[in-house]
Formats: sequence, C-alpha cells, structure tokens
Amino acid sequence: MAKFGPYEDDNIFAKILRGELPCEKVYEDQHVLAFNDINPQAPIHVLVIPKGPYVSMDDFTEKASDEEIGAFFRAVGKVARQLELAEPGYRLLANHGTDGMQEVPHLHIHIFGGRKLGPMLKTA
Ligand code: 5GP
Repeated sequence: MAKFGPYEDDNIFAKILRGELPCEKVYEDQHVLAFNDINPQAPIHVLVIPKGPYVSMDDFTEKASDEEIGAFFRAVGKVARQLELAEPGYRLLANHGTDGMQEVPHLHIHIFGGRKLGPMLKTA
C-alpha cells in the first residue's frame, strides 16, 4: 500500500529514474519520463512520471513549479500522440491515496489505449 508521507527515494519509479532499475522507455525530456507498464492492463499501457520528487497528484499540484506542471501535461499529450492514440482515443488515470489504491508513491499518469476500454469504473 502506498505511503503518503514525505517523498521516499527508495520507491520503484525513483530507482527507474536513477537508472538503478530498467524500463522500456517511450519518451523522455528534461522534466518527464514515460515507459511501458510492467503489467499492462490494455494493449497500450504507458506510465508518465515527472522527474521531480512528487508522491502523487496531490503533492504535485501543491508543490511543483508552473514549468514542471506545464511540461508534465504537455508530455502526456505528446506521448499519446506519439503512440498514435489521439484519433482512436485513450484513457488517462492517476491514482492518489488509499481510496484511489495508489501502489507506487511517485506521481504517475497511466495512458491506456489500443482497444475499447469499457466502463470508466468497476462497480465496487
Ligand atoms: P498505481 O496503482 O500506483 O496507480 O500503479 C502502479 C503501476 O506501476 C502498476 O500499473 C504497475 O503495474 C506498475 N509497476 C509497478 N512496478 C513496476 C516496475 O518495476 N516497472 C514498471 N514499468 N511498472 C511497474
């Protein structure tokens, strides 16, 4: 289960950013890295993460600079276009906290695509 205290450098995505763990890179710029999810839930399942130390969307939108926030959301759109998903469509998801069932405590946006994705939420 995610930790929602201060950012911790030992999370999996921090290790990927430091090159300590491998990833299948899809996109990278000064502020952002995108890579394939290790356990894809759709034919295309990419994770987009900021390079800065932000636990979740809550943390990011409170503390990140306008430049980081702008770069992050521009990159999400750019990656989706690079994956040729703009026309067939895609879904974005960012889990935060316990109810959101966030597993990795470094902000990430999931990009899902490559098939019709079905209803937005599973009924509890
Ligand atoms: P969350 O539930 O936190 O929104 O999603 C975490 C995502 O990270 C999951 O979809 C999971 O498959 C993915 N993931 C976990 N560990 C790794 C890893 O080591 N490499 C990659 N590429 N994805 C991972």
